Amino acid sequence: MPLDAYRRKRDFTQSPEPAGAARRRPKDGRGRFFCVQKHLASHLHYDLRLEHDGVLLSWAVPKGPSLDPAVKRLAMHVEDHPIEYGDFEGVIPSGYGAGIVMLWDRGTWTPDADDVGAALQKGDLKFTLDGYKLKGSWVLVRTKGARWAAGGADRSWLLIKHRDEWAGPVDIAEFAPLSVKSEGDFADILSQDDPDVWRSNRPARSGEAGALFETIIRRAIQMRSERSGRSGRSDRSGSGRSRSARSPRPERSERERSERERPERSEQSERTERSVRSVRSVRSVRRRRR
Ligand code: MN
Repeated sequence: MPLDAYRRKRDFTQSPEPAGAARRRPKDGRGRFFCVQKHLASHLHYDLRLEHDGVLLSWAVPKGPSLDPAVKRLAMHVEDHPIEYGDFEGVIPSGYGAGIVMLWDRGTWTPDADDVGAALQKGDLKFTLDGYKLKGSWVLVRTKGARWAAGGADRSWLLIKHRDEWAGPVDIAEFAPLSVKSEGDFADILSQDDPDVWRSNRPARSGEAGALFETIIRRAIQMRSERSGRSGRSDRSGSGRSRSARSPRPERSERERSERERPERSEQSERTERSVRSVRSVRSVRRRRR
């Protein structure tokens, strides 16, 4: 049954994740849903999910997608997720996938070939993304020897950006690190979900799960301060691609950086618009360079 593996791994009395159901989508010609969830668990990774046949096909991408066509990113095929999962953002306090889930990108995807099942069997799925951060032509290609199977050992794929106007040497994960749903970072999601945890930074939890969760909280705080440190510098250093590395990046104001409360809605929207403008200007810079 679809989603059996997904449900087997989770205790929905303990996890806020949706139990979901496989859903038929109306054939109305609209694009299919896709999302990327940034998941701070025992290891930070990005989960790429593509709607197909009433579920979300899912790959865990440890380093996240790269816009550089020369970079092949490992993508581990994992269990199908329910469609409802595509909107999920929040804290999984314990159990499978314990950590913080951020909705990092969402939009629609279009397979190049009509027969997605055949493309998966073949291990070569070409598609176009129309998301907020990820756009243009991509391919998921299965590594040699692996087969199309849910779970199991044969699940290594590579996620590769095709060369097009949306490709380029921008580190998209660093360039646009925040949620497309709440516009916050992991620490914001944590504080929204459980303000007490954030205030004390020290949840009164014991045992292994509690220790892991503390590590994750520390990591969330550390990631925020690292980002603040970076945006305080006027330029990025040390990259071999010096010209393009100077692409504009979203900057946070001093006030925003020092802010520890959740910003007002209007400020959040402003910040998002700024980062969208920055992404657009990266594109125009690239066009001018041609
Ligand atoms: Mn995950």
